Amino acid sequence: MTDRRTELAGNLAKVEERIAAACAAAGRKREEVTLIVVTKTYPADDVRLLSELGVRQVAENRDQDAAPKAAACADLPLSWHFVGQLQTNKVRSVVGYADLVQSVDRSRLVDALSKEAERAGREVGCLLQVALDAGASGRGERGGVAPGGIEELADLVANSPGLRLDGLMTVAPLTGEYAGRPRAAFERLMDLSTDLRRAHPAANMVSAGMSADLEGAVAAGATHVRVGTAVLGVRPRLG
Ligand SMILES: *Cc1c(COP(=O)(O)O)cnc(C)c1O
Repeated sequence: MTDRRTELAGNLAKVEERIAAACAAAGRKREEVTLIVVTKTYPADDVRLLSELGVRQVAENRDQDAAPKAAACADLPLSWHFVGQLQTNKVRSVVGYADLVQSVDRSRLVDALSKEAERAGREVGCLLQVALDAGASGRGERGGVAPGGIEELADLVANSPGLRLDGLMTVAPLTGEYAGRPRAAFERLMDLSTDLRRAHPAANMVSAGMSADLEGAVAAGATHVRVGTAVLGVRPRLG
């Protein structure tokens, strides 16, 4: 094994142990939680090693980095998730490789995704990104729709050709009433998911929890955790 492969294997084992322990503590089956490895800022070679180590779900947040990486890894059995703020002019590119977009937060984006998914002859899974710190604008600082906007946006996705409504995603807020309380934020997301599933029973994905707070997300009921740093290492600061 190369040094990097050994490092990634060790980190993956530690994350796996954390997820398993969190599931056990919550009385949940390990299979109820899927690990998505966030590979942003790390090279395609790392993605290849992760694939060899059994990772099947990877996530990226910037199209300009993700598009060439996904192309370089097109031979691997991976599902690609897009988790970053998404501008409509990047949608055609993202639809070219992403199986799921977790950052759907406005109707203009839904329209663009639907148009490009249809053009590409693909079905794109959509998670609505929920901003639990949304101010009066109804949008979060880092994107996301306010809880009050979920129902309307969900109906729009569900009625848009080429798109599949898969559930909800959030990032623990740094500001507002949930700042420093990730577990409470994830419990709120679960309540919103319960509401959503009344109208859209198949939209049962709940994506929450990162390296620092995955235990709280698993305890709250998340079905997917998105882990970068704990697997790949501390990222150099992005400019
Ligand atoms: C970077 C990122 C993650 C992973 O964060 P870590 O703290 O590195 O685990 C998860 N979700 C989103 C949306 C991200 O941008």
